[in-house]
Amino acid sequence: MIRPILRYGDRSLHTRAAEVTTFDADLQQLVDDLIDTMYAAPGIGLAAPQIGVDQRVCVIDISAGRDPKGLICVINPVFVEREGMQLEEEGCLSAPGFNATVVRPARVVVRGLDRHGAEQSVEAAALLARALQHEIDHLDGLLFVDRLRGIKRDQIVRRIQKMKRAGQW
Ligand SMILES: [Zn+2]
Repeated sequence: MIRPILRYGDRSLHTRAAEVTTFDADLQQLVDDLIDTMYAAPGIGLAAPQIGVDQRVCVIDISAGRDPKGLICVINPVFVEREGMQLEEEGCLSAPGFNATVVRPARVVVRGLDRHGAEQSVEAAALLARALQHEIDHLDGLLFVDRLRGIKRDQIVRRIQKMKRAGQW
């Protein structure tokens, strides 16, 4: 089921999400909803807080559905390695219309569980490393806007506040 995507300013996007402890039918439904909503957007990643669910679950597919093996679901992820640096333009389904260059590590190794609770380890570089970090940030209540400094961040926040006042956000 496609769910509404919450936008910057919504409480659940700015709160650390809870660890998943139960791998039941509700969790399977949540993962399916995240996948449906991500592809429909369309986007290359989506985290549970973006649809208002307080659980450490995210889905990523940097092929946007073109590669049948491209879909990754990570639950309770933790970084075990982070190295290097990349500087790329980034956007977010919870901040439509805004982009900014974000500094992130170039390569990461993430450990977590899959949708059935089995342990998995994901090694990623370039865009996949960026997408993983972006989604894990969501689980920690952070948006890419929060990673910006100075005027760029102020500019985006001011424009969002203005749109909110005008009822356009
Ligand atoms: Zn995002």
